Amino acid sequence: MAGIEPQPGIMDIELYVGGASHVAGVSNVIKLSSNENPFGPSPAAQEAVRRVVHEMHRYPSSDHGALREAIGETWELDPQRIICGAGSDEIIAFLCQAYAGPGTEVIHTEHGFAMHKISAMAAGATPVEVAEQDRVVSVDNILAACTERTRLVFVANPANPTGTMIGLAELERLANGIPETAMLVIDSAYAEYVEGYDGGAKLATERPNVFMTRTFSKLYGLGGMRIGWGYGPQEIIDVLNRIRGPFNVAALTLAAAEASIRDTVYVEKCRTENARMRAWLGEALAEHGVSSDASTANFILARFGSQAEAEACDTYLQSQGVLVRRTTGYGLPNALRITVGDEASCRRVAHLVGQFKAGAR
Ligand SMILES: *Cc1c(COP(=O)(O)O)cnc(C)c1O
Repeated sequence: MAGIEPQPGIMDIELYVGGASHVAGVSNVIKLSSNENPFGPSPAAQEAVRRVVHEMHRYPSSDHGALREAIGETWELDPQRIICGAGSDEIIAFLCQAYAGPGTEVIHTEHGFAMHKISAMAAGATPVEVAEQDRVVSVDNILAACTERTRLVFVANPANPTGTMIGLAELERLANGIPETAMLVIDSAYAEYVEGYDGGAKLATERPNVFMTRTFSKLYGLGGMRIGWGYGPQEIIDVLNRIRGPFNVAALTLAAAEASIRDTVYVEKCRTENARMRAWLGEALAEHGVSSDASTANFILARFGSQAEAEACDTYLQSQGVLVRRTTGYGLPNALRITVGDEASCRRVAHLVGQFKAGAR
């Protein structure tokens, strides 16, 4: 057909649906739909932004040196092997653009994060969905799905929207078992919520075929600033830097991220509060007959008896000004993903789910 046409496959991409942020007619909504930090960004980040706001006419740093130094110090990583992006979404897109393409396959998991599949398709590659085992990533299933065309294997750990994770030994077994031509990408957006877990950093340090992505959007409360990073073998970083735009991260964002990562007291407070309220919310939901897997992240996947019940509960919550996330698009139609909010929000959502279960519609 003549005329202006996008590349093959682009129109097959389903548009990403974000968490809802408004309810018609309700002004004071409680937003538990996008896994945002209920306490917002660190005050130090806000101060840092105020300090550089007069410099908006200046182009930002192109190599993100100061932020990479700060990340390196915090996690004991070589800054040379770090790349920053406009959210870890951008790093995921770079990986697909650089390493996948027509005729290649990109593995993502059954309930995995939507951007893995979307970025693979945007690069012209074939996404391959691999079944999970009771909402947990299955290394055996992934290994069985690998072919000589596999280039990237995406595993979010902890996973979104299930909140489950696999251990480092399983990740290592995966890295050992994938074909030589494939790279394991550990999407560690929620790694900071897991005590004693390095997000796969050690594996990415030691292995030539493991790459880790991280974000400031979750624990650090900077979702609106768009900042994430990747860490892995030097050769891979060098490749990604060739396709990265020179000014892909804004100056205000760089300032906010650097201040955030150095404000360890604030970060620790957010982590502790999340763990406390996550445990509380899981138990409160269970008391109302709503089960969930033990979550390792900042949200809970609440399971209902049927899709109809999950949707009815979502509708009821919305009518009361509480927004949570439907997970039908993630192959979990019977569930709702609820972000762990502050104490008042958690109490409110648990109370409303209880009312719903008791027959309120
Ligand atoms: C939220 C999230 C991200 C982070 O995306 P950003 O682009 O950094 O905001 C990445 N992976 C998963 C699994 C997520 O849930």
